[in-house]
Amino acid sequence: MTSREELIIEWEIQKAKWGLSDWEFRFSNQKRHLGYCRPRKKVVSVSLAFMKTNSISVMKDTLLHEIAHALHYLETGKTNHNNGWKKFALRVGCEPKRCATGEGLQMPRGNYIGVCPVCGKETHFYRRVRRSYSCSHCTNSYDSRYRLNIVVAD
Ligand SMILES: [Zn+2]
Ligand SMILES: [Zn+2]
Repeated sequence: MTSREELIIEWEIQKAKWGLSDWEFRFSNQKRHLGYCRPRKKVVSVSLAFMKTNSISVMKDTLLHEIAHALHYLETGKTNHNNGWKKFALRVGCEPKRCATGEGLQMPRGNYIGVCPVCGKETHFYRRVRRSYSCSHCTNSYDSRYRLNIVVAD
């Protein structure tokens, strides 16, 4: 079974358990957030980009984190990480942390890579690069000698 299938099954279990039958689960390609909850649209989402670089337990915890947001919203109309949310986090069984960054989390790398013509080091960008950057390893301010050559990775 793939991690993707495993998460879908986990969603089905949780959806039934918490009465979220009119909610939808989606995969996203977000590279800066593990997951999100859009309560007005009744959507919870987990990032496929993070799934490539993190264990299934991290991803299941993310799903539960977003479900805790859904339940918290249904009860209070709020979407923050206050004590009300923490109560739901504990109830659904995820880490009651603001977000699952830090220890052991592997951030997916950006698809746009700037390569320094002098030292050869790479800088990753998450969005299309629209202006010139110079290498932060070689200079502290913009310097065209260290202008990064942008290549698109996949
Ligand atoms: Zn959150
Ligand atoms: Zn450099």
